[in-house]
Amino acid sequence: MYNDLLAIIGDSERVSVNETVLRNHSGGTSYHQKKNPDIVVFPRSEQEVVEIVKYAANNRIPIVPFGAGSSIEGHLTPLKGGISLDFTLMNEVIAVHPEDFVVKVQPGVTRTQLNKHLKKYGLFFPIDPGADATVGGMTATNASGTNAVRYGTMKHNVLGLKVVMADGSLVSTGGEVVKSSAGYNLTELMVGSEGTLGVFTEITLKLYGIPEATIDAKATFESVEAAAKAAELVLQAGVDIGKIELVDAHTILAVNTYNGTEFEETPTLFMEYSGTKEATEHGIALIKELMEDSGAITFKAETDSLKRAQLWEARHHAALSIVGMKPKGQLVSTDVCVPISELAVSIKYGREMLEEYKLDGAILGHVGDGNFHVVMGLNPDDEDEMQRFYDMHDKIVQFAISHRGTCTGEHGIGSGKMNYLKKEKATALPIMRAIKVALDPDNILNPGKIVER
Ligand SMILES: Cc1cc2nc3c(=O)[nH]c(=O)nc-3n(C[C@H](O)[C@H](O)[C@H](O)COP(=O)(O)OP(=O)(O)OC[C@H]3O[C@@H](n4cnc5c(N)ncnc54)[C@H](O)[C@@H]3O)c2cc1C
Repeated sequence: MYNDLLAIIGDSERVSVNETVLRNHSGGTSYHQKKNPDIVVFPRSEQEVVEIVKYAANNRIPIVPFGAGSSIEGHLTPLKGGISLDFTLMNEVIAVHPEDFVVKVQPGVTRTQLNKHLKKYGLFFPIDPGADATVGGMTATNASGTNAVRYGTMKHNVLGLKVVMADGSLVSTGGEVVKSSAGYNLTELMVGSEGTLGVFTEITLKLYGIPEATIDAKATFESVEAAAKAAELVLQAGVDIGKIELVDAHTILAVNTYNGTEFEETPTLFMEYSGTKEATEHGIALIKELMEDSGAITFKAETDSLKRAQLWEARHHAALSIVGMKPKGQLVSTDVCVPISELAVSIKYGREMLEEYKLDGAILGHVGDGNFHVVMGLNPDDEDEMQRFYDMHDKIVQFAISHRGTCTGEHGIGSGKMNYLKKEKATALPIMRAIKVALDPDNILNPGKIVER
């Protein structure tokens, strides 16, 4: 296989069977089972990807696309060996059309790289998962982040794709328009497909103007349930809030320790409102009123851009801060999402489960869309601790599903949540399997993820 792939790539620096390189592609950040691929290839162009996939198809060799490696549910583990296709070197912004609010990128572009590039146009791309993920990985997991409450998830912001299918053919889906009723929506089918239906080589994204004014605010509460209730009230009042993120006292303690900040160690909502100057002032005043009505202990608005950046940087580092509290800790996380009216009761249940299973975890979430995480750092070699996490995780997922929710708001299925998908999407699963069989009959694209074959 090495010689064949080297012949396609023509550069020994970009085809590797080095043990360390293989290990670095054995499963990424995920806490699930790891396994080395047989080989790692770093393509530089779409044509190389086409040639590699054609070679894999002719020889029935599995392929696992690899972005930044930050997915959590075992998405990247090459369960059947084969080729790990690392997109790090395909990281060019291909074209920006500022007047149309559209950008075309290669899949290895990261979200921070993209936003740095867009700043000079007064534009930004809002999807911001906690890790500096690649656009390819974010598309493949239907990622979201703190901005989802206003801007949606990747599904709402990917306009078009170029996809190498399992037989090596190159297909364009969607386009550059914000709406189209032209046939089946293959772009949406591909978003969230976790490398199991096709390999993306180009992604067209929708962009937004950087708002004239932005105000951030922080409200503290006596309990996480009270904070969740307050978030519920803001949404039910129809306030067009940009971000509303909940962190519990344990998370704030970790953030303070990790970042040297001095936030009050109590359940807190971090919020953002943006728009014109007048609209923003009005919006934040309304939010303040709603927070006070919900029993907030303190409320503080922040307009200083440096302090605002620090606040969101702290929030973005929250998960890693929590893991940093545990020596040699491995990040583990739940990811349920429930309808807004079920959020407070679900978070309360999450806290009870942490206590029942004697786990030292934190609760943080994108509560504006009903999505929250119970996060901690665990020692993967401590079987008892890991089992307690799995049992707690199971209870939290079952609770969410029985409260009209889902086992995953944004992290995806990978290999880790296939059992829950069976339960949650019992009637839809045969159709998902039929799609997989139709598009990848030899099961070479990231086998063993999302649906069983
Ligand atoms: C600290 C931390 C915080 C996080 N916070 C969030 C969050 O707020 N929101 C959120 O949604 N997620 C979050 N995540 C999870 C993770 O960042 C996302 O799932 C992200 O979208 C993965 O992107 P990646 O580039 O790392 O992809 P990878 O992990 O490398 O790959 C993810 C999946 O995409 C597939 N893939 C990659 N590139 C391609 C391609 N070119 N074509 C087809 N398939 C491809 C892979 O095969 C795999 O199935 C967090 C993770 C960490 C570690």
